[in-house]
Amino acid sequence: MDYPVLLLDNITKSYPSPSGRLEILKGINLSATRGDSIAILGHSGSGKSTLLNTAALLSSIDSGKIFYSGRDVSYLKGRDLSLLRNREMGFVFQSSLLMEDFSALENVAMPLLIRGEVKAEALLKAEDILIAVGLKERIHHRPNALSGGEKQRVAIARALVGNPSVIFADEPTGALDEKSSESVADILFEKSKTSALIMVTHNKSLAALCKRTLLLRGGILEE
Ligand code: ADP
Ligand code: MG
Repeated sequence: MDYPVLLLDNITKSYPSPSGRLEILKGINLSATRGDSIAILGHSGSGKSTLLNTAALLSSIDSGKIFYSGRDVSYLKGRDLSLLRNREMGFVFQSSLLMEDFSALENVAMPLLIRGEVKAEALLKAEDILIAVGLKERIHHRPNALSGGEKQRVAIARALVGNPSVIFADEPTGALDEKSSESVADILFEKSKTSALIMVTHNKSLAALCKRTLLLRGGILEE
C-alpha cells in the first residue's frame, strides 16, 4: 500500500492576465500514498486551489507530469479522464455542491451509478456510508433541508463512497462554525484512512491532524 497513488512531478501553471502571464505554480513536487494525509497551507491567493484543481486534472498544467498509481495521466482527456476521476478521486469543496433536486442518498449513490453499479446496490452502499457519517435520520432529505455541517458530511460521504485512491478537500470546513467544523473534520479523517487525503485549510488545528503539513509559498511547496 505504500507506492504513490498520486505523484506530481515539477508541475507549473500560469494564468493569462492583462499585464502578462501570472505564474502561480513554479515547480510543484508531491507524492502521496494511501493512508497519507497532507495539509496544504498558504495565504489567500497563493495558489492552493489551483494546485488541487491541477492535481485533480480539473485544470490544465503548463508543464510537468501527473501520475495516478504510476500511470502518466498528465494530458488525459474526455472519457478516459472522466473514468479516472470517477474511480480514483473524491472531492470535498468549501461548499458542498450537492445536487439540489436529489436526496442525500441519491447524491451519495451518484458516483457509483455513474460507474454503472446496479442501483439497489449503489443505494445500499450510499446508505451505509451516510449512517457512518452520522446521517441515518437524514438520508431522504434534500440538500435544502440540511444544515451546513450536514451537507458537508453528505459531500464527504459522496467523496468516499467509491473508495477513491485520492481525496481532495479544499477548505472543507471553511464555511462552518467551530463545532460542526470539528465533527466534519473528525469524520473526514476517520473515514479517509484508506485513501490519500490532500487538504487545503486555513485551520491550524485541522492541519495538525494531518501526517504532513506543506506550505505553498512563491509557487513552491515547502516542508
Ligand atoms: P488560493 O486558493 O490559494 O486562495 P487560487 O489558486 O484560487 O489561490 O488563486 C491563485 C491566484 O491565481 C490568484 O491570484 C488568483 O487571482 C489567480 N487565479 C485563479 N484562477 C484564475 C483564473 N481562472 N484566471 C486567472 N487568474 C486566476
Ligand atoms: Mg482557494
